[in-house]
Amino acid sequence: MSKLSKETIYSIIKPCGLGPKKSKAIRELSKILVKKYNSIVPDNFNDLEKLPGVGHKTASVVMSQGFGIPAFAVDTHIHRLAQRWGLTNGKNVRVTEIDLKKLFPISSWNKLHLQIIFWGREFCQAKACYGLECSICKACYPKRMKPFIHKKP
Ligand code: SF4
Repeated sequence: MSKLSKETIYSIIKPCGLGPKKSKAIRELSKILVKKYNSIVPDNFNDLEKLPGVGHKTASVVMSQGFGIPAFAVDTHIHRLAQRWGLTNGKNVRVTEIDLKKLFPISSWNKLHLQIIFWGREFCQAKACYGLECSICKACYPKRMKPFIHKKP
């Protein structure tokens, strides 16, 4: 990646839905990985989050899915579902992450993160439901009668 042009990288990542800015970041971070880290991706938040284009969410995904180290990456699906299920007040993704980490055992984080994302993509999409349809919300909120509107989709 460090030797490829931005345009070539973009042609590779475009089918994943990533934009042209990401190709620049991938090229830059690849150069840093080769030079500074001897071509080895670091396995800690501190170093990962210093790389171009890598925020806390991406670093969390690398830590959990790449290295098997417990982390709870909160993407748009998890943020939305945690609000619908009353597990957070939805102030922002960092608060949601803290709230979820308090609620679930550390041993469950890496698997649970994926389970919630897949559920959100398949059945609990942003505009597809207002907390009144399936057994999850019916069990958690049997008295819910009005549509639940989350703060941020
Ligand atoms: S009822 Fe089911 S699909 Fe609808 S918000 Fe609740 S969990 Fe999601």
